[in-house]
Parts: sequence; C-alpha cells; structure tokens
Amino acid sequence: MRLDELPPRENFNDWYNEIVEKAGLTDKRYPIKGMNVWIPYGWKVMQSVDSLIRKEFDATGHDEVCFPTLIPETEFAKEAEHIKGFGKDVYWVTHAGENELDVKLLLRPTSETAMYPMFSLWIRSHSDLPMKIYQIVSTFRYETKQTRAFIRVREIHFFESHTAHRDFEDAERQIKEDLEILERLMKKLCLPYLIHRRPDWDKFAGAYYSLGIDTLMEGKILQIGSIHQYKDNFSRPYDIRYEDENGEHRYVHQTTFGMSERLLGAIIGIHGDEHGLILPPAIAPYTVIIVPIPKKGHQEKVYEECIKLWDELKSAGFRVHFDGRDLRPGNKYYYWEIRGVPVRVELGLRDIENGEVVLFRRDKMEKKSVKRENLAEELRSLLTDIERNLYERAERKMQGRIVEADELSDLDPESAPDILKVKWCGKESCGIRMEEITDMNVLGTSEPEEKADGKCPICSKNAVKYVYLAKTY
Ligand code: ZN
Repeated sequence: MRLDELPPRENFNDWYNEIVEKAGLTDKRYPIKGMNVWIPYGWKVMQSVDSLIRKEFDATGHDEVCFPTLIPETEFAKEAEHIKGFGKDVYWVTHAGENELDVKLLLRPTSETAMYPMFSLWIRSHSDLPMKIYQIVSTFRYETKQTRAFIRVREIHFFESHTAHRDFEDAERQIKEDLEILERLMKKLCLPYLIHRRPDWDKFAGAYYSLGIDTLMEGKILQIGSIHQYKDNFSRPYDIRYEDENGEHRYVHQTTFGMSERLLGAIIGIHGDEHGLILPPAIAPYTVIIVPIPKKGHQEKVYEECIKLWDELKSAGFRVHFDGRDLRPGNKYYYWEIRGVPVRVELGLRDIENGEVVLFRRDKMEKKSVKRENLAEELRSLLTDIERNLYERAERKMQGRIVEADELSDLDPESAPDILKVKWCGKESCGIRMEEITDMNVLGTSEPEEKADGKCPICSKNAVKYVYLAKTY
C-alpha cells in the first residue's frame, strides 16, 4: 500500500476526513477545533463557487455589501425567537483591552440583527423597495457536536442575501426568484437537491416559514442552504417601515437566502470516489491538466509540444495547467486525480507523430484519442458532458433512495430507505411520533406541496399531504 493511499470509500467518514486534506482543500491542524485553514487549492475552489453565486445574485438586482463581524447584545436581543434559537451557539466578546464592556458584543452567527438596525435607517419610502443585498463573510457558531471539515465547523464561510419588500406577496415573489437562482446554481455545481418546507417546530428562529435545501450524501440528508420568509417578524422589533403612496407607514416584509461551504462538502461527498475528488467543471481551478509522456532522447520535443498546446488552450479560454515537474507520469496522474481535475490531456512522442492527443475524463476514468486539430472543440463538449453526467448520476441515485411507506410499525431500520415518504395528517404530535418510530428526522413537506389521499399511519385520520423523513447530518 502506498503511504498516501486513501481509505476505501465504503468507510465514508474516514475517507471524507482524509480526502479533504489529501486533495489540498484544507488543513485541520489549526489550534482551534472546527476552525480550519483554507489552503490554496481549496480556497480557489471555494472562490469559484462564490463567483457563481455572485454572478447569479448580481444579475438579479442584488447588491453586495459587507457588514461588521461584531453585533451588540442589545440589538441581538430584540427579536425574542431569534435569541432563543441562537443564544447557546454564539461566541461573546466581553473585554476590549483591559476594560470589561458594558454591552457585550457577539461574533455574528448570521446577520439579521447586524443588518436590520441599518435597514430601519436606509428604508424610508416605497421607492426604496424592494431592497436586495447580499454578503459573503465568515459567521461563527459554537458547535458542540463532532466537527467535520466544510460540514460542521465553527467559523463558517457563509453566503446570505437579505431582502425587504412592501408586502407579503412581493416577498413571496422573491422566494420564487431564489428558487430559480438555486436551480441554475445547483446544475453548475452538479448537486441534486430537494426543497422541504420545514415543520413549524423546526423552522429558523424568527421565520414565518423556512424552506430547507436538502441533498443526499451517503445515506443521510445534508442541508446545503435555506430560504426564509420572515413576513414582518423582524421589521416590527427593528422598526423597519416605509411610507406608501398614501403617506401611510407600513412594516416591510423580509426574506433571506443562506448557503455555505457545505456546498463544497456536498460536492466532495456526493461525487468523490476511491481515487479522490471529482470536481464539477464550473468550479475546478483547472478543468484541463496537460501531462507529458516523455521518451528517452525526445524529452525536449515532447515538452515543447506540450507548452505549445498549453498556450493554444489558454488562448481558447480553458483553465488549463501544464504539469512539467520532474515526476513519473503515473505520479502526476495520481496527484491530479485525487484533486478532481475533470480532464487530463496526455501527450507522448507517438501522439505527436500521429497528430493526436489522449483525453482522460475523471468522472468515468475513461481514455480516448482525438485529433489534435479538434482538441478545443472536443474538450468543450467533453466538459459539458461531464457536468451533465455528474448531475444526472447523482440525481438518479438520490431519487432511487426515496421510498413511500404506508406503515411505519413494520419498518426494519437496518434496510430502511434513505428518505421515507409518508402520508401525514399535518399534526405535530404525529410527526414527532414518526421521528421516534423511524429514528429519523422530519424534513418537512415538499415544495410545492404534494396532496396525499389515504390515512396518517400514526392517528389513522385522513392524510392531507406527504411528509419526508431521513437521517440528517
Ligand atoms: Zn396523524
């Protein structure tokens, strides 16, 4: 066994914990648990995810901002549900220099309470609405559960958009737009997802309702984002009002959309295999890597041709890298496979003589020869096909793990499907009972809601809708 070999993929937790470091994404040795270092390759990948997000939100009329990290306790405490929900998870700053602070400050766990006092100063008239802003910043949560890189960390690389609207209907329109943005993003990230309207007992602190954006990773649901309708739950305590056309003062309705580095965690866990990462082309720091196959006496010729090829592909707009290191080709293959580069181009003396190159696609571990003059075109269609294949095979796998159950009592937890679909009367007590019987969590109802016809397996009353359950991270 090679020293740097990965644990088998079947031991998912070990595999995951090793791949994040071996693929050059993060260094977990920083001396605060749950706060890891973004190292160059990993940071490049995350920045590519951020650029996709920025592009989508800029194109839909959102403006980027950057708020301070610290929030005074007095502002944080204004929305009662919110502080109940986050109270135990926050980091406090109690001293400045040698002085104990009169008003404690906290590191933002999310930014509602940082932004909304400013919203109340910025929003005056109906002509200021809708207001749509976002930021990409670190947030902080004191996680007490076992931490895991990108999935459960204490300093979180976080995206959040916050919008303010004149009424509930306009805020609802925003949520529709958010779902369209999400669809485009997830296709690029090759992540299949499910939208669940969380049950009331599990919605975000302060929300009117919450939509969880869920994906399936190794048998468990990973929430990779959320969209919240706040109604006027925050605008009342923070006094965010506008003057309408008739001179009347009204409270705004608000929404938020949050995502985080968990997107990267999902990409690692859903697509990765025993050879390492498989990165979607849209976020790979390099989509193409060129590896020379040297032959004694012809070394220079091969390198020259590789560099020519490198220049050609750069000019054609590819993110391409030439690996000219003094290493055996096999070692280079291994190095770039573990880092998930979508396509490798191999070039040896015989290929040069034949006017060909060898293309290797990481998602299927397949090789083929193509004519050198068609390379740019071949690469473009190959990258498109890799993106489509990654999305579709993960989507098929997830959909295949959703099973409808009429009875919960005879369910064998050992062979249970990953995601259970159950008819539900809608009562909280029945939902909680389902969680106890299955040892799973209620994810909520699908969005848009599916009507059910039949009986709730707990109370035998008429079921009105379906509810979904799964084990969760
Ligand atoms: Zn029931």
